Amino acid sequence: MNTILLGPPGSGKGTQGARLAGRLGVPKIATGDLLRAAVQNGTPLGTQAKSFMERGLLVPDDVILGLIGEVLASSAAAGGVIMDGFPRTIGQAEAVDEMLAARGADVTRVIVIDVPEDELIRRMLGRAAEEGRSDDTPETVRKRLAVYRDQTAPLIARYGTKGLVRRIDGTGGIPEIAARLDEALDR
Ligand code: AMP
Repeated sequence: MNTILLGPPGSGKGTQGARLAGRLGVPKIATGDLLRAAVQNGTPLGTQAKSFMERGLLVPDDVILGLIGEVLASSAAAGGVIMDGFPRTIGQAEAVDEMLAARGADVTRVIVIDVPEDELIRRMLGRAAEEGRSDDTPETVRKRLAVYRDQTAPLIARYGTKGLVRRIDGTGGIPEIAARLDEALDR
C-alpha cells in the first residue's frame, strides 16, 4: 500500500503520517523532514535547498528526486510507504509513478486533508512560536499557501481521475482526524 498524504502546509500531514506509518509498520517519506535534516547538516543538497525553503518556494524537482530516489527504490519501501509532503508537483508525481512501476507497484491511495485557510494560518504561526520553524513567518506562510494552490493542488484532479482520492476533514482533535483517516483508507 503506497499512500500519499496531500494537503496544504499546516494541514497535519506530518502528525498523521507519523502515526499511520507506525500503525502500518511502513516507512514514511517526508521530504520536508529530509530537507530540514540536510540543511541542518550543511550538506551540498541542503545548501541548495535552503534559500527556496526560506522563501516558501518549492525546492526544484531534480533536487527532490535526488533526495528520495534511493529511498523509494529501496527494499525498505517494498512493503509500502507513506508519502508526506511529496509529491508536490506534477513532475514529481510522474516520477513517483515511474519509480513505483519499476518495481511493479503503484500509488494505492491519495488522502487529501482539508483545512480552511484561516485555520492553517493560525496553526502555522503557532508552530513558529513553539518549534521555531524559520519558514513559518506570516509572509512565508502566505507564500506557501499560494504555492500549494498553484503547484500542488492540481495533483488532486490528476489522482482523482484515477479514482485514488479520498478527502477528509482535517479540523478538530488529532485522534478525531486519525479516525477519519483510517476510515478513508478502508473506504
Ligand atoms: P514541509 O515540511 O513538507 O511543509 O516542507 C517545508 C519546505 O520544504 C517547503 O516549503 C518546500 O520549500 C520544501 N519541500 C518539502 N517537500 C518538498 C517537495 N516534495 N518538493 C519541493 N519542495 C519541498
